[in-house]
Amino acid sequence: MNSSSKFLNLDFTYYYSGGTLLKISSNDNRTYKSLTLNNGLKVLLAHDISSDKAATSLTVNTGHFDDPKDRQGMAHFLEHMLFLGTESMPEPGYFSQFINQAGGQSNAWTGTEHSCYFFDCHQQHLFKALQLFSDFFISPLLDASQTENERNAIDAEFKMKIKDDGRRIYQVHKETTNPQHPFTKFSVGNQDTLANKEDCIAEEVRAFFNHNYLAQWMTLVIVGPQSLDELEIWAERLFSHIKGSSAPKPPLTAPLYRKQDLGLLLQITPRKHMQKLIISFAMPCIKGLYKHKSLSFLAHLLGYEGEGSLYSIMKAQGWINALSAGGGVSGSNFKDFNISFALTDEGINYYEDVVEMAFEYIALVKSQLHNLAILYKDKKTLLDIAFDNQEPSRLLDWASSVSVNMHHYESQDYLYGDYIMTEYNPTIFEQLCNFLTPHNMRLVLIHPEVTPEHTAKWYNTPYNVEKLPHDWLNALAQIDSALPEMRLPTINPYLQVENTLFDIEPTTNKPELLKDKPGFSFWFKQDATFRVTKGHFYIEIDSPVAVESTKSMALTRLFADLLMDGMAEQFYPAELAGLNYHISSHQGGLTLHTAGLSGNQSILAMELLTAILKQSISATRFAEYKKQLIRHWQNHSHNKPVSELFGLLGAHLMPWNPDPVALASALKTTCFNEFRRFREAFFNSIYIKAFLHGNWQKHHALTMQKEIRMLFSTSEILEDLKRPLNVLNTSQHIEITQPDADHAIVEYFQALNDSVVEKVSLMMLNQMISQDYFDKLRTELQLGYLVGCGYAPFNTRAGVAFYIQSPDNKPETLCKHHHAFILSFSKNITQLTDSQWLEAKQALRLQVAEKDKNLRLRAQRFWIAITNDDFEFSMQKRLITELDNLEKPDFIAYIQRIFANEYPHVTLRCN
Ligand SMILES: [Zn+2]
Repeated sequence: MNSSSKFLNLDFTYYYSGGTLLKISSNDNRTYKSLTLNNGLKVLLAHDISSDKAATSLTVNTGHFDDPKDRQGMAHFLEHMLFLGTESMPEPGYFSQFINQAGGQSNAWTGTEHSCYFFDCHQQHLFKALQLFSDFFISPLLDASQTENERNAIDAEFKMKIKDDGRRIYQVHKETTNPQHPFTKFSVGNQDTLANKEDCIAEEVRAFFNHNYLAQWMTLVIVGPQSLDELEIWAERLFSHIKGSSAPKPPLTAPLYRKQDLGLLLQITPRKHMQKLIISFAMPCIKGLYKHKSLSFLAHLLGYEGEGSLYSIMKAQGWINALSAGGGVSGSNFKDFNISFALTDEGINYYEDVVEMAFEYIALVKSQLHNLAILYKDKKTLLDIAFDNQEPSRLLDWASSVSVNMHHYESQDYLYGDYIMTEYNPTIFEQLCNFLTPHNMRLVLIHPEVTPEHTAKWYNTPYNVEKLPHDWLNALAQIDSALPEMRLPTINPYLQVENTLFDIEPTTNKPELLKDKPGFSFWFKQDATFRVTKGHFYIEIDSPVAVESTKSMALTRLFADLLMDGMAEQFYPAELAGLNYHISSHQGGLTLHTAGLSGNQSILAMELLTAILKQSISATRFAEYKKQLIRHWQNHSHNKPVSELFGLLGAHLMPWNPDPVALASALKTTCFNEFRRFREAFFNSIYIKAFLHGNWQKHHALTMQKEIRMLFSTSEILEDLKRPLNVLNTSQHIEITQPDADHAIVEYFQALNDSVVEKVSLMMLNQMISQDYFDKLRTELQLGYLVGCGYAPFNTRAGVAFYIQSPDNKPETLCKHHHAFILSFSKNITQLTDSQWLEAKQALRLQVAEKDKNLRLRAQRFWIAITNDDFEFSMQKRLITELDNLEKPDFIAYIQRIFANEYPHVTLRCN
């Protein structure tokens, strides 16, 4: 049969499902059914024949806004308690254990007005998993004897969040709004708010559950390879017993802001260095307008970065480094529309002018209300292309996001709601623009030099709040025209290209090396699986100059940042057209990655590569980014202790990856001239690896290969730079102190060699130990909130890392318990039964054998293989073979060997 090129088909399929029409992407091969159970629970079932996994998510319209005033943190506490046993399966944590053994994972979160519970597992365990899961919502144990321990877990979680700037700033927001609004409540909870007052906390949790976990306020998504009929029977059988009534969710009545809460300036001191201005406009809930996407269109206009944009003009003034529009808190009766600016040192002094300029740009938007249809259409085209070229995401992520969307969108839009965009409606758009006025605004200025008069509750954030001068607000309200140099976005040139799906050429199922001179390897693979008009291009340029010294490693990173900064304006339209790019530094050089629609991606990639060589970089931007980067590295010591210890571990094992403190001090002593010489020398001798993968044919790749060779024709081409690795021969200890931070330990065991059998053995160890480690050290001993174990390779060498972060226990105590656990694990492993062994093996096998879900993941896997010189692209296969061959006695001997005292490992401790 003659296959012809397929053009984008923008007529979306309407899939008939249980009486409603569900809009699905033409690239979606699943079938769906939506239904409402007798108790009011809304259900979406998805039949995915190609999946070996299944996933489920349940979202309830209950969150911390529903907490009783004198029991703040209750919704969050209940979320934790639901995992600790049900009447039919009283053992705490059994569900998580079961899911882990079924090759999946489970988790939950509590938000303002919703809480979400989700898991995935191998499809054959779905029914049992659903049985256990549905009981969470029917007959949870909520056992009084568990409340003490779990309150400690919540308290440790809270103590960790105290240090987080996002939370700290959020708290200032909370306490400067209407105290009658539930937004002001404390969401996490701690030892005090959840204290066992008269031995009644367990009863209060139950009362909260009975009152708020009602079926008609819940949505459920189940996806798996089972037939829709089977899934429907299971859903009815297991979830119909959730208690329901016809009561609607009571609406929020108090407004988020009273008159006196607007027109304020909040100044906040962050923990980490940060200089930020947020202009925040108060709006009512706009969820009902989701079909218009008017707010995201407004955000698109204000956040534009091309010539004549707010961003471009302010950056040229030296006031800002970044701008974003459209974020802000939202809920069922409120929405903040934010414009945020990352300010330079100078920008801090001119923040009033930044605000004024924003109103001048808003005046420009308002003056053009009737000419915006054409720009709106651009955005609509892009969303249509995105929907039609949708690729499957991880089943678990998909299920949880759809179960949330089911609360916000009409049933036909459960899947389409994020993408739908109707015709441009100037009246709605004008109404939204009318909220962008000075008197309806709050300013948030975050910088280190605030003179604070207040300290926020719970999080102790120092801040100051004052009324904005009335005269100034009135003056801003008079602004009715833009600056002459201000421009709205233009029609996007990158969207004017047709995206054609090319015919499939005969090929092997792995990337092909296109022949060229040594030192310049170009790999290509046409995608024949996902069939979307998209692709990925990776290129890494290594240079010996990049790794000469710590200073040159710091300069490589700075070089990448300056390139991204310098290119932002020129390539912004490409980003808007669904083409993404990123330049980053790695050990030995620079990586460019482009992704998105394939139509003109190779043109963009060539433009970017040319810019890497020729983009002009000014001394001013050098100075600004040098300062930013040094601050960024110095901020590292404010990270969570566990993250800092992992950073140090990476530096310790990989010589070309120095720690942030060393990088910061090396960069301090550089000047612009030195950077210029560095940049020139960087391209003298290079080594290049590139990979093109997606909707292209071989002739596209050959053309691109030739163009790249031409571009770098003056460079000497070198052999591959091999990334060095420190091999542990003796046990080592690293200790750091971090003022006013938690205690923490990290312990790392490194594989002896790069063999596949050792990789598999350590993966097996991680599979078998991690849930027990968590259950023992976190759930039972309550050592801290962040407790775990992970498979952690560095530069192709496998390893396993254990970590604990604790607000109360010193590293000695943590190490003592950690070692006791390891000792007993290595002793008990001899008792491992054959069925336990096979079960664990099976669960790991499912994980390793998991198919690539989408083009992005497949491209990533191929690219990692290329950078690791695995030119057979067979790692997955080899891991499976070695796993199948792994015998229990050999594994036990291996574990006893690496957990023996004399086996070298690194222990890192903080405080
Ligand atoms: Zn929690």
